[in-house]
Amino acid sequence: MNLVYRSTRNGEETASASEAILKGLTSDGGLFVPDCIPKLGVPLGDLAKMSYQEIAYAVMKEFLTDFTEEELKYCIKNAYDDKFDTKEIAPMVKADGAYFLELFHGATIAFKDMALSILPYLLVTSAKKNHVKNEIVILTATSGDTGKAALAGFADVPGTKIIVFYPKSGVSPIQEKQMVTQKGDNTYVIGIHGNFDDAQTSVKQMFANKDLAEEMNQAGYQFSSANSINIGRLVPQIVYYVKAYGDMLKNGALKEGEPMNVVVPTGNFGNILASFYAKQMGIPIGKFICASNKNKVLFDFFRTGSYDRRREFYVTTSPSMDILISSNLERMIYRITGNNPEKCAEFMQTLTKDGVYTITEEMKKGLSEFYGGYATEEETAEKIREVYEKDHYVMDTHTAVAAVAYDKYKAETGDETPSVIASTASPYKFTRSVMDAIHPGSENATDFELVDKLKEISGVEVPKAIEEIRTAPILHTTECDIDKMEDEVKKILGIS
Ligand SMILES: *Cc1c(COP(=O)(O)O)cnc(C)c1O
Repeated sequence: MNLVYRSTRNGEETASASEAILKGLTSDGGLFVPDCIPKLGVPLGDLAKMSYQEIAYAVMKEFLTDFTEEELKYCIKNAYDDKFDTKEIAPMVKADGAYFLELFHGATIAFKDMALSILPYLLVTSAKKNHVKNEIVILTATSGDTGKAALAGFADVPGTKIIVFYPKSGVSPIQEKQMVTQKGDNTYVIGIHGNFDDAQTSVKQMFANKDLAEEMNQAGYQFSSANSINIGRLVPQIVYYVKAYGDMLKNGALKEGEPMNVVVPTGNFGNILASFYAKQMGIPIGKFICASNKNKVLFDFFRTGSYDRRREFYVTTSPSMDILISSNLERMIYRITGNNPEKCAEFMQTLTKDGVYTITEEMKKGLSEFYGGYATEEETAEKIREVYEKDHYVMDTHTAVAAVAYDKYKAETGDETPSVIASTASPYKFTRSVMDAIHPGSENATDFELVDKLKEISGVEVPKAIEEIRTAPILHTTECDIDKMEDEVKKILGIS
């Protein structure tokens, strides 16, 4: 039986898994949600013996029910290969009284790789299944991390092109270097003279432009999105929480059936939602500790029931969590309305119109397994230094936000359930902030000097992703004004 996907905003629209992956968003701007969360078909005790790839298949086959076994195994094999620098794919490290699930061993050393390594294969397979003849053109606006992970994922994948727009003076030097050195005949990287919002707005306009869609179709192309609300990104993220439970059994932290807590540094609410889905599948999880940085809109939401984005936006040392609208929360809101698309749509419209909505007492009960925590900039830096000095383990700024939230949770509740902290980036991706925390006084050093210094004091090998860009030739030099972005896309595709 095929699992049906529905819109969070209307009762009529349904899709198969492959259709939902191709479309990304529903036609009314809502998100696709599975009709029910399927159960894992594997006994918990077996997880400790299974490889990442085996667990990936066991999880994903329950959600992507219109994929054949052969198709899905092909996608998994090509995604989780030696692009990752460890056979375990997502290893677990014990430090600071918790278990750090390291999700940064892929091509771009951030957790986005966990899903963006497989999304291109899922997308191309979905296109084939639905008899799409056009070449798929992935169009992405990025503030840094997603662009590179998407480029690395789609590079040289047959049947696709990827075009990334980034703010020319709005990303870190390492982030820019990562993107402009990207190899692959189907990759295009363009620096725009504007900020991330400008890039994002133009990209959305191109997606909505019917004339452009028709011109593209004539030339044999169609757009698709690698955005984090695509279920093709959400489902692969469930896998590592199932794998983590197996690891906790293997290392003796848990006995079969005992619960673990999870702690997730959160921005768009995708990663933590994946852990919630893992629990619905049958993984024993107690609490979901949702960690925010200074942009603590989710912390306030879990305390008060009001989601209020009318507030100052802060630029922090954990930039991938600098978000005021957590798109994936909509799937949770849908669930706690009792899967009511009309009510869910109403909350989302209120958010757009008024910048705030408040859920009912009844709905709040549906969130009782969640705990909101947050870390200030000082607490984040202090945590990096503390754990480095105590356990000689160096974590990145995003992971440190989670570690602080976990400390606060334990202090407030006394709950000592063994806990897994999602470690979402390599410290080498945010070297400057990490070095400022553990070794202040390096303001004048270049980024690569800091990389060498971090290696010296931590003893952790510099990841290939960083080594490579040190000397890699610059392959992308195109820049353009905001109002010329569509022209650039047409130039690339040879249409005018
Ligand atoms: C994207 C990202 C996050 C936030 O994940 P969400 O799924 O958006 O909540 C946290 N840390 C890092 C390093 C990221 O790149």
